[in-house]
Amino acid sequence: SSSSRRLTVDSIETYYGDSHVLFDVSLSVGDGEIVALVGRNGAGKTTTLRSIMGLTPAKSGRIEKDGESIHGLDPHQVRKRGISWIPEERRVFGGLTVDENLRLAAHTADTDQRERIEEVYDRFSRLDERRTQKAGTMSGGEQQMLAIARALLGPETDLLLLDEPSEGLAPQIVKDVESIIRELNEEGVTVLLVEQNAEMALGLADRAYVLETGEIVHESSADELLADRSAMEQYLGVQ
Ligand code: ATP
Repeated sequence: SSSSRRLTVDSIETYYGDSHVLFDVSLSVGDGEIVALVGRNGAGKTTTLRSIMGLTPAKSGRIEKDGESIHGLDPHQVRKRGISWIPEERRVFGGLTVDENLRLAAHTADTDQRERIEEVYDRFSRLDERRTQKAGTMSGGEQQMLAIARALLGPETDLLLLDEPSEGLAPQIVKDVESIIRELNEEGVTVLLVEQNAEMALGLADRAYVLETGEIVHESSADELLADRSAMEQYLGVQ
């Protein structure tokens, strides 16, 4: 039923100027799920997230959060509906300390900022140890952790859109990022995970969609896709 759906994307068409990038894209994310959106370079994964956030609005189709339309809202309004996006570039302020980064992110929240920041430090001990370190001097994994922590400050988040959180990270650090995602999900955060690293994403996800040149070409449980060697090879280039 639509009431257990955190997110519904129905038949969206998205353009950059005259360039048509998403064709009739439909997907859904149920309350509490981790859903992977995978596909090769340039397939339109980031554009799907940008459409959901209202950064590159879909020209047509339907986008709903908890059964209510968010299509046409600007990114700030979408954020207030509980959707938080972590872009590929992991926006952290490299010249600022960890604590300054968190204070800036918490600035727009209504609740007691300091209390929420301390909750973040309880959850991410690696950030706690580095409160006064400049973010730009941290490892890629630590910066990803800080980006996730920043996304969780500000308005209450119940749907996290993650764009390639494993990009550029060493395998051991990817494992740390996986644990964070799993842990957040266990605490009730629903996740839509965009990944180039299909095996990582499918290992975490409940269900999966494959995008190919702007179209959804496969939808199944993550386990089913992982076990489907011809689909893995055809769509994702995994041997
Ligand atoms: P990647 O993992 O390489 O980022 P992706 O699946 O996220 O790939 P998108 O970034 O969504 O793919 O790009 C989809 C298509 O839209 C590509 O052909 C890309 O060149 C094009 N595109 C992306 N951003 C723009 C833009 N700002 N203007 C014009 N075309 C764009």
